Amino acid sequence: MKENSGKVYLIGAGPGDPGLLTLRGKSVLEKADVVVYDRLVSPAILGFCNPKAKMVDVGKMPTHHKVKQSEINKLLVQFASEMPNATIARLKGGDPFVFGRGGEEALELVAAGVEFEVVPGITSAISVPAYAGIPVSHRGIATSFHIITGHEKAESSSNVIPAPTDVIPAQAGISSAPVGLDFPALAHCPGTLIFLMGIANMDFIAKRLMECGKDPKTPLAFIEKGTTPYQRTVMATLETAGETIVRENVTAPAITIMGGVVELGKTLAWKKNLPLSGKRLVVTRAAKQASGITERLTALGAEVIETPMIEIRTLERPLVMAQAHDSIGSAMPVCEQPVTALASHVIASPEGARQSSPADFSSLANFDLLAFTSTNGVESFFKLLLASGNDIRILAGKKIASVGKITEKKLLEYGIRCDFVPEDHTGEGLGMLLRSILDERTLVNSLQTKDERGSTNSQTLASSLSLSKGTEFTNLDESRILLLQGNLADDTLLKLLPQATRWVVYETLPVVELPEWKREAVASADAVVFASTSAVDNFVKLLSQSTVGATSCLEAPQARPRTSFCIGRMTESAARKHGFDTVTSDETTMDSLVKKIAEYYAGEGA
Ligand code: SAH
Repeated sequence: MKENSGKVYLIGAGPGDPGLLTLRGKSVLEKADVVVYDRLVSPAILGFCNPKAKMVDVGKMPTHHKVKQSEINKLLVQFASEMPNATIARLKGGDPFVFGRGGEEALELVAAGVEFEVVPGITSAISVPAYAGIPVSHRGIATSFHIITGHEKAESSSNVIPAPTDVIPAQAGISSAPVGLDFPALAHCPGTLIFLMGIANMDFIAKRLMECGKDPKTPLAFIEKGTTPYQRTVMATLETAGETIVRENVTAPAITIMGGVVELGKTLAWKKNLPLSGKRLVVTRAAKQASGITERLTALGAEVIETPMIEIRTLERPLVMAQAHDSIGSAMPVCEQPVTALASHVIASPEGARQSSPADFSSLANFDLLAFTSTNGVESFFKLLLASGNDIRILAGKKIASVGKITEKKLLEYGIRCDFVPEDHTGEGLGMLLRSILDERTLVNSLQTKDERGSTNSQTLASSLSLSKGTEFTNLDESRILLLQGNLADDTLLKLLPQATRWVVYETLPVVELPEWKREAVASADAVVFASTSAVDNFVKLLSQSTVGATSCLEAPQARPRTSFCIGRMTESAARKHGFDTVTSDETTMDSLVKKIAEYYAGEGA
């Protein structure tokens, strides 16, 4: 092995569904410096790659030609030689060693003295039938299964997998008769036959099998783009195979499966019945937050392309914003300084703050009520709190308020139950609720409190105060309220609570560029999910940026989905402003949004 050369990982990406990538594959992708991938690899899997990785699409280069296998081999050796100690991921559809030419690439690497590892993937040969409800073996029906290439001779000079757009029209007839297949043996084989890459040749293959004695009534299924949102199963028999491909316009990538097991697909097909099956949805939340909704949408059958519009960074220490009144009584931030024992150490920007020492949380003693307005605020606050050497005991005796249910749930993960959550889950709702406590006014409709056991009641202020530890809150001092927010939080709360203090615990940085593969994935999606107005604005901005080779954005208007699913009224109006059709959740929760998305598509299908 060459000293210090990079290491190449031949990774199987599985058949399409990102959930079918192995844990090992995912962990290599997360740290890879270079990712050399094929056309069929799902964009949702590319989303697992380290965002800083160099992404090389050998399925389609700018000239729209596939890269020849010999060039891919050279490329891998070149990356390994030129990038000492780098991790080079060679990501291939299905399993790298099942008609994937992974063996050829490995031989080249060995010849060049490059270290490599194989991360097997789930081959389409078994997983695509499984997603169509066809078991490749079944007691009493098939005791073996055989995976066969239907296209042995072709593609010898190109990349392994035909692009989904490289439709091989069956009408064009036999492109190249498969050589080396023992048709008599195959015809007499009682097991299940699974052909990969065989659509263009299937008419020929079927005829040869029948000539050699295989029953013309043998059930057969073509499964197109299996495990992706566009999966389609077309049933036929051996004698109707050729005409069915033409009539149904079966296109690559597809597998052909023959044998009695195919009949089981009529009963066991499960994927196509999922409510969001066939839908590709773009989720624009920050990666960390997106997972919840991604999981839920995926479970309903959708393919999710996570395209975060923002990046959340916890500050090294909170920035405190002291407040003062202007002449008309609204709040004005007068200075920003870090919460630190060194009062003179004024930090001008969060960037500068990163180098600083941990925050001094002793000043928390100055506050009786902590109000959180986002899950990011909760996470960043506790991260900082722990980093400062403290723990949740420092919050003993303090009241906790949350803007809504999601933030409330996040606080619960840290062992904190909220005392106050407004029914109107907005900054204004929270401000009004706290204001009403301060003003000792009764606010019948916008108040939601929790008793000691955590059950939720809508109550008058008076009864809520008696529930929440006697009368101490009737004496709450506005200046002893601490708001924990991000750098982009608007002034709503501060205007309602001008004496309160605001700590900025995290910053929101917009994502400034979308990689080409993601633009393509977004363009092909059915809808986009927005959870904030800033996500809408940034999404539109990112997509209107000119693409490579175009001189202006007008020359290259980026395609985008028409439909948007929005959380909250503000988000909805931002999306409408940018020309999206909108479907808005009834409540400002992810559950409500996911429910709405499922209802929308159920209605569409009806
Ligand atoms: N290494 C891959 C196979 C590469 S050959 C694997 O293990 O799956 C490419 C062929 O695989 C395609 O022509 C098609 O027959 C099959 N294939 C790959 N992905 C597929 C998918 N999602 N749906 C249907 N067929 C697929």
